Amino acid sequence: MRALITGGAGFIGSHLSEALLDQGSQVLILDDLSTGSIDNVAHLKGRPGFEYFIDSVNNEPLLAELIDRSDVVFHLAAAVGVKLIVEQPVHTIETNVHGTEVVLKHANKKKKLVVIASTSEVYGKSNDVPFREDADLVLGPTPKHRWAYACSKAIDEFLALAYWKERKLPVIVVRFFNTVGPRQTGRYGMVIPNFVRQALAGEPITVFGDGTQSRAFTHVGDVVDALLKLVAEPRAIGQVINIGTTQEITMAALADRIRELSSSKSVIKFVPYDEAYESGFEDMPRRVPDLERINALIGYDPKQTLDDILIQVIDYFRKK
Ligand code: UDP
Repeated sequence: MRALITGGAGFIGSHLSEALLDQGSQVLILDDLSTGSIDNVAHLKGRPGFEYFIDSVNNEPLLAELIDRSDVVFHLAAAVGVKLIVEQPVHTIETNVHGTEVVLKHANKKKKLVVIASTSEVYGKSNDVPFREDADLVLGPTPKHRWAYACSKAIDEFLALAYWKERKLPVIVVRFFNTVGPRQTGRYGMVIPNFVRQALAGEPITVFGDGTQSRAFTHVGDVVDALLKLVAEPRAIGQVINIGTTQEITMAALADRIRELSSSKSVIKFVPYDEAYESGFEDMPRRVPDLERINALIGYDPKQTLDDILIQVIDYFRKK
């Protein structure tokens, strides 16, 4: 198999590249390094079957050529991270909507299978946990920029499903839930790399809000496994599929656990949301996937526990 990964130098993309090469596939990556990093794939350079292109998906002639050379496209290039989204809403909307538009348009020419990366963020403020793929999306008002991310990803989903319905382009839409692990940067606001960096530096660990909000974290390796199985499963085509785990932890408990596992003496500091993001910021109290659909398709069985993840991330930051 030859795969094109847009955003291949990003956190998830770099792990996916590695797994594909390990299974004997060829990998082309297209990444403009806006949030990805060449360091993420430096160890893959020179591996047979690996090629990388530092450019944007907006370079349509190049994109078209790379899609032409591929059997499957993993479209992971996107603006990610709540902090980035709140600070750069124009960039977020343009990147997420336009990027998916051009990828689908070119993939459609030769009906190449496309995996569209979406997010649990699309469930928005829904309290109806666990979130089922066919549940209503409950987004906040447009002046609150956080919701631009969910909305841009929802448009991507609509467009992908429309291509499937109207033009028979094979697509799979995946909704990632808090995917974490080594190589994830804290620069765009993600909680685990931030807490770990703070804990190792002896700086205060900044828990936003009152710390009672919870998340269920999935190791990137388990997410990549799921992606590889889904592209080999014809019943996944035309579907929206949650990928995540159901084991929740509150942000206050997460800060404690990271402090403990890294033997840190950092204090834990509670920071109001208004200060952490922007005035009137709305957070989600819980985010848990319903996994019935993915289980029925590929018998999904995430292997790594939260402690496994935290130990690996602490080790990664220590070495860095
Ligand atoms: N968070 C936090 N401190 C940080 C960064 C994030 O307490 O330094 C909180 C954030 O407010 C949210 C949770 O951790 O409630 C997860 O945040 P992240 O951005 O990693 O993921 P998402 O909000 O997209 O689930």
